[in-house]
Amino acid sequence: MDVIVVGAGASGLTAAIQAARKGARVLILEHMDKAGKKILVTGNGKCNFTNEKQGIAYYNGKNPAFVLPALRQFGFAETLQFFKELGIHPQNKRDGYYYPASGQAASVIKVLLLECKRLNIEIAYNVGIREIHRETEGFSFHTKQGIFESLCCIIATGGKAAKKTGSDGSGIPYIVGLGHKIIDLVPALVQLQGKQSFLKNIAGIRAEGTICLYIENRKKTEDFGELQLTEFGVSGIPAFQVSRYVSYGLLNHKHVFVLLDFLSDLALEDATTLMEQRFHTYGAGKSAAQALIGLFPEKLNRVFLKEARINLEKPAQNCSDKELAALAALTKALRIDIIGTKGFDHAQVSAGGVDTDQINPTTMESRIVPGLYFAGEVVDIDGMCGGYNLQWAWSSGFVAGSAAADNIRREK
Ligand SMILES: Cc1cc2nc3c(=O)[nH]c(=O)nc-3n(C[C@H](O)[C@H](O)[C@H](O)COP(=O)(O)OP(=O)(O)OC[C@H]3O[C@@H](n4cnc5c(N)ncnc54)[C@H](O)[C@@H]3O)c2cc1C
Repeated sequence: MDVIVVGAGASGLTAAIQAARKGARVLILEHMDKAGKKILVTGNGKCNFTNEKQGIAYYNGKNPAFVLPALRQFGFAETLQFFKELGIHPQNKRDGYYYPASGQAASVIKVLLLECKRLNIEIAYNVGIREIHRETEGFSFHTKQGIFESLCCIIATGGKAAKKTGSDGSGIPYIVGLGHKIIDLVPALVQLQGKQSFLKNIAGIRAEGTICLYIENRKKTEDFGELQLTEFGVSGIPAFQVSRYVSYGLLNHKHVFVLLDFLSDLALEDATTLMEQRFHTYGAGKSAAQALIGLFPEKLNRVFLKEARINLEKPAQNCSDKELAALAALTKALRIDIIGTKGFDHAQVSAGGVDTDQINPTTMESRIVPGLYFAGEVVDIDGMCGGYNLQWAWSSGFVAGSAAADNIRREK
């Protein structure tokens, strides 16, 4: 075989298609019974497969700029065109997020598999690989089903998130065995678990706000959007976006907390003025709890008042300026100490992976083992929520497949 791709996920299928389009004979080894199981669950089953806003700001890892050569070769426009030709009519649902017009992630897998079939790409399912060896010429794959051989190898085994879809980290030992360094894999795009007991009282609340992440009392990052409060902590896209930093902070035994700002468009002094108006100017005949009705969800009002040590029944106009300043401060910085994330099973991706110092970003070829390529989440790149992880899978897969096929042509 010219090229063996390990993993029939988003990046592996793209790599295989591109290598075959350039004339290589390709076999994919997949340890699950089906291809693309993770694609099926993306975007709540609708597959947010790319985003028109691109740039290194949307990618993370030790070296986010590593993504640029791949995105230049196969970026947003090329991705849309690739999928259009396969049959996926793109739909920009909101804010640059693209989905297939069918609204079904299954369509994406189906068209990729149809293209594999057209190109005579073989896919061997339920293959458990024991070892991958570098041979004098090419690679050998020792599996329960026997030994497979190829001139080039593309490892596209994904990360460790949502392991029931097949990406369970079992590709990592082969990569280490072939001499590569792995940056610690941690859950990313995942819910955060908080310590405060008031969380059980605000479960179910969804409110717009800013989440500000602090690690060892230093602000690390922030994100704005719909915060979802749950009985265990904080969820919603803003929590997802900061979660990779939470995971690394906790891995390094750092103290991690978030401040939730529910009045992001007001400065603290304006928030204090707002409280004074609601309690003192317009608060006649109202209790403290009633003075907040209409500003925040009621469960949240009760938590703010309790945390500010203001009795819910206290007449609003009797609340002191000091009490109202404390209340305003809480609405702009509700502190939740983070004790964990919901882990790999609930994460959309894992951060970490093959150290990008050891990969050529223009070809995705290993700098250590010639003829070995990497694609997708297995590399130390994780994208923000919004189609960036699949974009990285398509882009790096395309580049790896293309470069592997060029390599074969040179060898022949
Ligand atoms: C719930 C959820 C929702 C998501 N939504 C989105 C979204 O809307 N947009 C977006 O951009 N991203 C989304 N993602 C992330 C995105 O799905 C992944 O980043 C992307 O699929 C990674 O592609 P990949 O090819 O690197 O890995 P995967 O798609 O995980 O594929 C890896 C493949 O390798 C196989 N494999 C693993 N180990 C071995 C082995 N040892 N031997 C043989 N085969 C092996 C696996 O079975 C799998 O088929 C979501 C993820 C989840 C879990």
